[in-house]
Amino acid sequence: MNKPLGKAHEARLTRHRAQGKIHAKAVQGRFNTARWVMVWLTQIVFYGLCWLNWDSADGRRQAVLFDIPGQKLYVFDLILWPQDALILAFVLIIAATALFLVTALAGRLFCGFACPQTVYTSIFTWIEARIEGDHLARRKLDASPSHPRKLLRKAVKHTLWSIVAGWTAITFVGYFTPIRELLPALAQLNISPWETFWLIFYAVFTYVQAGLAREAVCQHMCPYSRFQGVMFDPATRNVAYDRRRGEPRGQKQQDGKCIDCAICVQVCPTGIDIRDGLQYQCINCGLCIDACDQVMDRIGAARGLIRFASEHELSAAAYNPPWYSRPRVLIYSILGVIFCTLAAWTLHERPELRLDILRDRGALLRETPDGLIENAYTLKLINFAERPREFAISVTGVPGAEIVGTHRFSADPGSLRTLSLTVAAPADTTLSGIQPLYFKVQAEDDPSVHIREKSSFALPGLR
Ligand code: SF4
Ligand code: SF4
Repeated sequence: MNKPLGKAHEARLTRHRAQGKIHAKAVQGRFNTARWVMVWLTQIVFYGLCWLNWDSADGRRQAVLFDIPGQKLYVFDLILWPQDALILAFVLIIAATALFLVTALAGRLFCGFACPQTVYTSIFTWIEARIEGDHLARRKLDASPSHPRKLLRKAVKHTLWSIVAGWTAITFVGYFTPIRELLPALAQLNISPWETFWLIFYAVFTYVQAGLAREAVCQHMCPYSRFQGVMFDPATRNVAYDRRRGEPRGQKQQDGKCIDCAICVQVCPTGIDIRDGLQYQCINCGLCIDACDQVMDRIGAARGLIRFASEHELSAAAYNPPWYSRPRVLIYSILGVIFCTLAAWTLHERPELRLDILRDRGALLRETPDGLIENAYTLKLINFAERPREFAISVTGVPGAEIVGTHRFSADPGSLRTLSLTVAAPADTTLSGIQPLYFKVQAEDDPSVHIREKSSFALPGLR
């Protein structure tokens, strides 16, 4: 059982939680360093990747671009089409499986170190601390009546937040409209309605989520925090307080190692007390570990009173079973391997061309003066290859059927080529009515790259 808190201490905690807005005390340590490493890594990738150009077979373009009008997703040399939705689905499934696996092994690591909410809250809080001071100064400033200095500081802070939120929105939209085109268009206020909408929406979203809502998002809005528990088992390592070592709390000789300083609570960005046990508000950021380790160093006790530990490790047995003996971890690992293999296979087996055939709906057939029957078609051919290609097209299925005019054409890399074709066949064939007709498209430089699609040919004698 927890020892009852002292009155002064209880009042301090109540005050800390009742601020409405949590101003966490800054702390140094390995988990804080890891958090900032992740902030830098994720933001270098996010803010930087859209500026990277790539030399591809179809010229120099943005390396990563969601080209919505062109219905293409460029990822360096890879071009994905709507027909490749299965690959994108696999990517999402693999990401979800990886998240489940990490959660089963080490709790909400993603929340504490890589979730955009955590990352942007860290950036916005860092700006706030530069302008308004440490957690005590910020609390004091919030509680003070309005005065010019307070208003000036708040104005500077909100201006800087708005700049970061605005630039984040520009970067986000820059993955859909090439950012080198977006910026000049924005400067001339010459952007489309959807670009305007997403710029405003994403800027406001970032500003509100990271600047104003902060930990409330983790506590009340994030669905992941509510169902994460189903991915845990007694061997899942979470940030946890070692009750056996810490209790009873106090500073007397006979007490446990927790001196009840509450620094672990003061540094917590979600304002919880990890000594109350596992809570859905805990994002596993490890800052309370950094804080408590410093306290342990000061009192000459071993570190790790708060640490990443499983229920098993904190029990009297102090033993965690190996990962391969845990059904949950095994299932997530096997699923991950299966989906990675399927995704790689799907990518490898991706056809290099695709053909859709539409019959001319205006006239089913046409008889020419020289005794031929003609049918008109529209062919849509996608050249998935990363290089321009020459193709030859032929038809089979109806005796004597031939393409009128040229049956050779070229297609740019990663492009959709639309062709209007006429097929003619002798009228004196024994066949009549609707007959199957097969189109074959073959790459001139590689006969193994070909596709055959069925359509139909209308001959006289239709009923
Ligand atoms: S920081 Fe450590 S010693 Fe201080 S209250 Fe928290 S658990 Fe106890
Ligand atoms: S309890 Fe510790 S690990 Fe959990 S959110 Fe608070 S500081 Fe982070």
